[in-house]
Amino acid sequence: MNIARVCLLSPPFSVLSYSLPGYLPEEAWQKGMRAAVPLGRGLRAGVILGFEAPASPEGPGAPAAPGAGAPARTFTLKSLIWPLEKTPLLSEEYLELATQMALRHTSTPGRILGAVLPAGLRTVKARLRFFGEGKPREMTPSSLASLPENELALLGRLWAEGGAEVCRAGQSPLDAEECRLAVDPPWPVRPAAKAQIALLEYLFEQGAVTRRKLAEDLGEGAARTLALLSGRGLVTVRPVDESLACDTLPAFSGEKPRPSPEEDMPFPFAGLPAEQPSRPGVKNGLPFILTPQQRSVMEPLLAAARSGRAETHLLFGITGSGKTAVYLELARDVLARGRSVLLLAPEVALALKLRDEAARALPGVRRYLYHGYQSPAAREAAFRDLASSPFPRSSSHVPPAPVLVTGTRSALFLPLSDIGLIVLDEEHDSSFKQDEGFVYQAKEVAWYRAGREKALLLLGSATPDVKSYYASVRGAVPLHVLTERTGGGELPDVRLVRMLPGGAQAHLLAEESVEALRRVVERGEQAVILLNRRGYAPQMYCLGCNAAAKCPHCDIGLAYHKGRERLLCHYCGYAVPFPSPCAGCGGMHFLPMGEGTERLEEHLASVLPPGTGVLRLDRDSTRRPGRMEEILRAFARKEAQVLVGTQMLSKGHHFPDVTLAVVADADLGLNLPDYRAAERTFQLLVQSAGRSGRGEKAGCVIIQTRNPAHYCWEFVRTADYAGFFERELALRQRRQYPPFTRLALIRISHATEDARGAESVAFVGGLLRAEGKNRGLTVLGPAPAPLPLLKGRRRYHCLIKGQDWQEMRSLFAAVRGAAEKCGLRIKLDLDPVNML
Ligand code: ADP
Ligand code: ZN
Repeated sequence: MNIARVCLLSPPFSVLSYSLPGYLPEEAWQKGMRAAVPLGRGLRAGVILGFEAPASPEGPGAPAAPGAGAPARTFTLKSLIWPLEKTPLLSEEYLELATQMALRHTSTPGRILGAVLPAGLRTVKARLRFFGEGKPREMTPSSLASLPENELALLGRLWAEGGAEVCRAGQSPLDAEECRLAVDPPWPVRPAAKAQIALLEYLFEQGAVTRRKLAEDLGEGAARTLALLSGRGLVTVRPVDESLACDTLPAFSGEKPRPSPEEDMPFPFAGLPAEQPSRPGVKNGLPFILTPQQRSVMEPLLAAARSGRAETHLLFGITGSGKTAVYLELARDVLARGRSVLLLAPEVALALKLRDEAARALPGVRRYLYHGYQSPAAREAAFRDLASSPFPRSSSHVPPAPVLVTGTRSALFLPLSDIGLIVLDEEHDSSFKQDEGFVYQAKEVAWYRAGREKALLLLGSATPDVKSYYASVRGAVPLHVLTERTGGGELPDVRLVRMLPGGAQAHLLAEESVEALRRVVERGEQAVILLNRRGYAPQMYCLGCNAAAKCPHCDIGLAYHKGRERLLCHYCGYAVPFPSPCAGCGGMHFLPMGEGTERLEEHLASVLPPGTGVLRLDRDSTRRPGRMEEILRAFARKEAQVLVGTQMLSKGHHFPDVTLAVVADADLGLNLPDYRAAERTFQLLVQSAGRSGRGEKAGCVIIQTRNPAHYCWEFVRTADYAGFFERELALRQRRQYPPFTRLALIRISHATEDARGAESVAFVGGLLRAEGKNRGLTVLGPAPAPLPLLKGRRRYHCLIKGQDWQEMRSLFAAVRGAAEKCGLRIKLDLDPVNML
């Protein structure tokens, strides 16, 4: 057993075999451990998947990845260089998760791990310190790789005897400090200060980055610019805040975290008899007693959580019905039984809200926060912390204390052990699907993990995914319903306002809506306005050439962002400064067409009573880390009376003083070429309506539409989910869409310069249809995608319908090679969320 199979954590992500070097004892290498391995001329980080005897069927030195054409010749294997940790980072269970995900996604474990591990854990950057005689000796993996054999033997002995430690990379000031924007655009810099503008734009896109990453991406010169900008207060540079990762424990220090005073006390649940009923109320951190309805759903859910079986349940509770309290009471029970809990929200702001409520309701629990907007260091700290739990280092067999993790979809890949409950709040939200890189559906991963851990998976929503609800109706997923708002409040009154077709209306807001807004402001109440289009104007029309400015790579109109003084492509990020002469005619006369959130905000200032505070919540206004929470908090504190925003504001937030919600352009999503267009619109509108009238005062909702006859509105008006569901289901059955069939999208594209591209696509289309027929699949297309030109590539879609995911994967595998040989890019998206 002295050959290690290692998956690489960076491209090509393959699984390779390496021999074990003589200078370390065999026991130094363990399954699940990260190791530095040679590849080509450099070193890479990999994870040891397992060991095998020499002369494996593939032949030594051969890639162990399937289908890589193993050569029969024997040649000497390269050997592993050095472990990157002393005890394995990943458990056997975790490797199994990665392997299963790889199988499901026709990928490799390395690619999966490369996508889900925090960035710092994917590199070989590490420093090893050896304590021999004299001064400790510091080495990097690459300096080790070039040492002579006798010195390696010496260090290997030290390592084996425990005379060595791994320091994390990140202790150099380059990694220890991160930079972020201190102010929103427009920035007070001269237009000629190109380097400064580039750096500010870069930080705007990236959020918080370490000095090292900044230097890597922008070059060494960036350090000077950075000093300049931080001197002027436009950028802040501060120590990486690792303590963000863990709510209750001090920052990760390289060893197991030291308990805080609070943690020194016995774990609050350890001594509780399991049968003791949890009495919700003030004493337990909830400021109220559960309502009878909440209690009635608690009972079966508790039973499910305690059953020791893997179960999936759906909690369908209208907006404001108190679903969160149900999650937290369940969590309390599961934690008391010594098992861990994952509470997931589709977005960071909602995850933070859940975190706060959990902190209040469950004090004294080991809590972690994990989401994509944390700094890599904070994510790494959380990951390492949790990974070290399942491997007790001492002989004492104290089981690891259960933890409560709140976060977004990526938290599903934390190395938690013994999970008893996974909650997906707002389960209908499309953000649970990761669309880029490693494409996965959080629901599927959650279902897999709950299955392995024998845990309860609870899906919660006021507007469940049609598929989830269908599963409940069919009896596959038990359904629990909350029909009343906790405060006894009524659902808001919903009114439709007809808008004139086309641009016939001077402004996006109808007079009726403006009137209603004024009244709300005068009464000292609050309003939210939903407009799912960011920027100032979606198009900038040049009066010289009578055409709108377009992205040269995507053939899509460039949106005007006034604050950033840019025309931007929302699909590829292409940006040009504005105002600047038209690329076509050199003219300087432009007309902004249409209205985005930025322009709406501006317009409101002119129609609302002077001094009315207006805030804006969209991707542009929330780029700076922490800014979204600032805006939400300011609005909750009533520092502004009106909040304008994109779909971000439709979700989950609880503003008791909001009595009016205006949906400025309700048709936006309806006309998308997506079978779920109506479902999405319904969900968005019911959720937005749900922001209104959550407190004591009754609420009102105004929906502006050009298409008042659409069937969707009647159901939105009465918040009639069941009615909508039936209508939608009948439609889907007729058209053979999910849940009556399984759907996959094969995305094919070629570079615009490729003259034979269209021909190749047609050829692959023929293959797909033939292969599809053999597998009993319906293949539609390939047809030009709804966005036919993006980022300089022509795009085509092929829709696959069938009953079996495995057949779809096998169809894809059958044509992939041929397509790639023609120079096409081809991708499989099972159950696609983005149909553009
Ligand atoms: P949902 O997620 O179902 O829309 P929330 O969980 O946000 O609703 O709850 C809405 C509000 O009701 C919150 O402010 C919450 O604290 C409060 N709440 C929940 N349960 C109760 C209860 N039993 N009694 C009083 N208030 C409650
Ligand atoms: Zn573009």
